Amino acid sequence: MTIYEEVQEVFSFYKSKRCVIGYSCQGREIYAFHVGKDYGRQFIAVCGTHAREWICARLAIKFIKQRVAVGGWIIPLLNPDGAIISQTQKPLWKANYRGVDLNCNFDADWGAGVLNTTVRGAENCIGDYPLSEPESSALARFTKQVAPFVTLSFHTKGGEIYFEYGGVGDKTGANIISAYTGYHPKMLKGSAGGYKDWCIKKLSIPAYTIECGSDGLTHPVTKLKDINECFGLLTYFFDNYSPTSGGLKKI
Ligand SMILES: [Zn+2]
Repeated sequence: MTIYEEVQEVFSFYKSKRCVIGYSCQGREIYAFHVGKDYGRQFIAVCGTHAREWICARLAIKFIKQRVAVGGWIIPLLNPDGAIISQTQKPLWKANYRGVDLNCNFDADWGAGVLNTTVRGAENCIGDYPLSEPESSALARFTKQVAPFVTLSFHTKGGEIYFEYGGVGDKTGANIISAYTGYHPKMLKGSAGGYKDWCIKKLSIPAYTIECGSDGLTHPVTKLKDINECFGLLTYFFDNYSPTSGGLKKI
């Protein structure tokens, strides 16, 4: 059973609000699950952006079953085609089906990252223009519709939390994530075009990238227990971070 099929199965039995936000290059559905209150400001949590980090989709399935104090949407597997490539052919693949790294394809200083390339392949390719890919454009469109108060992106690995872009961010949320997981809040230099970057720069909302699992792990992480410090994270985060807690500040 592929990770895509695992998510599909949860979707088919899900009793609460759910939707398909778009389709991958190969026509697979990109699912979103609603949790918590269906009124008030909402959050978005996204997993499985990078193909080889598909273990985060299993973490998302855990999150879907847990209580949260606010409401929001969980997208377990943004890049289903890539995840299947990683599971079946090329374990270290990060990009989508056509070799574009979705986390370099957002409209936030697109193409300015130090590792960025226009050459398609396993990682770091920016695509032809911002949001050229069906997966990134589906996420951007959905995010604009929901107008979340915060976004969380789950990746592997390294035990780090990124919370800043272009000199602004909200460290409050990073400290909450750090208190629960033991991960370190960090400023990331030379990176651009990510979903978090776009949320901070273009939507002016706090956004976090969480690199789940210790740096000693090897890609792809295949055992959920290797990132068990994240299991109750969403519940803990929203018990401590509300629509009125944060806001972007100059760092
Ligand atoms: Zn990643």
